[in-house]
Amino acid sequence: MLLISEIKLKIDEDESILKKLILNKLHIKDNELLNYQIYKKSLDARKDAIYKYQVLAQVKDEKKYLHLKNVSKYEKPNLEAIKIKSDIRPIIVGYGPSGIFSAYRLLEAGLKPIIIEKGKRINDRVKDVELFFEKGILNPDSNVQFGEGGAGTFSDAKLTTRIKDPFVEYILDVFIKFGAKENIKYIPHAHIGTDEIRKIIMNITDYLINKGAKFHFEEELEELLLENKKVIGIKTNKNKYYSSICILGVGHSAYKTIKNLYLQGVDISPKDIAIGFRVEHPQSLIDKNQIKGADIKEASEYFLRYKDEKAVYSFCMCPGGLVIPASSDFNRIVTNGMSYSKRDSKYANSALLVQVSTKEFPSGPLGGYEYLKEYEEKAYKISDSYKALACNIKDYLNNSLTPLIFESTYPLGTALYDFNNFFNPVDNEYFKKALRYFDTKIEGFIEQGIMVGPETRSSCPIRINRDLNFESINTKGLYPAGEGAGYGGGIMSCSLDGIRIANKIIGNLK
Ligand SMILES: Cc1cc2nc3c(=O)[nH]c(=O)nc-3n(C[C@H](O)[C@H](O)[C@H](O)COP(=O)(O)OP(=O)(O)OC[C@H]3O[C@@H](n4cnc5c(N)ncnc54)[C@H](O)[C@@H]3O)c2cc1C
Repeated sequence: MLLISEIKLKIDEDESILKKLILNKLHIKDNELLNYQIYKKSLDARKDAIYKYQVLAQVKDEKKYLHLKNVSKYEKPNLEAIKIKSDIRPIIVGYGPSGIFSAYRLLEAGLKPIIIEKGKRINDRVKDVELFFEKGILNPDSNVQFGEGGAGTFSDAKLTTRIKDPFVEYILDVFIKFGAKENIKYIPHAHIGTDEIRKIIMNITDYLINKGAKFHFEEELEELLLENKKVIGIKTNKNKYYSSICILGVGHSAYKTIKNLYLQGVDISPKDIAIGFRVEHPQSLIDKNQIKGADIKEASEYFLRYKDEKAVYSFCMCPGGLVIPASSDFNRIVTNGMSYSKRDSKYANSALLVQVSTKEFPSGPLGGYEYLKEYEEKAYKISDSYKALACNIKDYLNNSLTPLIFESTYPLGTALYDFNNFFNPVDNEYFKKALRYFDTKIEGFIEQGIMVGPETRSSCPIRINRDLNFESINTKGLYPAGEGAGYGGGIMSCSLDGIRIANKIIGNLK
């Protein structure tokens, strides 16, 4: 294959023109181009907005074209798993991205994992989540955080990652195989949307079941079965399972499980986190600022960062999305964001977070969970319900409080509250400086925005320490995975972590 870069199209030009541009670039005739596909597409909105493409082209006698500018050879890496003959059935606890992809990869190698997931399958989980969104009735075992697909199931399903690894493409190929659009492989900041990712995850689960994985939904890990500090199995609330391998991908909200493991002696350290709130703006304001009048159909996004001793940054932006209640514990408020595949709500939202160091936590490896709990409970006490706290950004900056300039998309409604009384004075100062700075980047950011919060679950406050073999440093056979173990933040990085662990296990068994 040839990789051809720097092919440019005007915003309103049809992608079918690409073929002609490839033929021109290589100086070949139609019948000499055997095949082509888009490899990457990016928007350059600096002046006159254009799309830039990289394409893969299949031609005879590729060498003839390698001297041309912006033409190079492309070889897809062979990522096929080695086939293993072993009776070992690895246990996977938690069926979020890290659990899904470790299971997928293990099965490719011929190992048939046993998967324990405390939440429900998606169709039942959706009913629980809707009940919470509509009536504020929370099921602590089945919610936005817990259930088939893990925390990203009710999300924008953004697939952004800065990690360079051939398995990034492998993950995207899996999503495509089970129903995602081809373009997630080449458009920048691709997203799938909550409606589509749900279907894709259900398809993957059915496939894994057909291939021999054994699932136990609505079953929760309680403790590890250990012998001489080695895993020999696990005990759940319903059963015992025996295996020398346990991949633990329980996500950042599994405090109860992490505490049990800590009490069993698993080595855990506290980790820096971030807290904050969601900002919401009319999507039209963001579009106007980001694409400067170009006729672009997709809802546009932003990435903002204010550098100071404690950085403040935007996180998990959901263009055309909703702010959602993401609690998994009674009487605690947690906000997050979600979009449908069309990203067609009239509002953009994003978390704005300030860094929090472990020094600010109560002492002990699990102090970060206490720190977060305090904020989540405080919000619930103020609102006396699962209504989120909210105020206008301009009021927050002026220490005043007036009715919201528009109603938040948060489905349970909001309680008007001055966030100056919520965060500590130091963090308030950083947030205010950052908001003023962001207003210089996106005109109207202050005047036309509201704050909704708190946002507390953007990163996990612990790390389960592991060695180069990806095993816990003091509990052999335990493979901590993904966000809840401190090794990922987001769908792609956690999926990748699951694959890396599976690859290690496969390599050790071969
Ligand atoms: C609302 C929301 C929106 C998000 N949006 C995005 C986005 O657009 N893009 C992105 O990249 N990331 C997003 N994220 C983050 C992303 O979802 C997570 O980083 C990712 O899901 C973490 O994967 P994981 O496998 O480590 O854990 P999780 O996905 O958290 O999965 C852990 C699973 O373990 C289960 N579990 C917990 N304890 C036990 C136990 N004791 N026994 C058995 N099972 C247990 C849970 O039920 C859960 O299903 C979002 C998160 C949320 C909450």
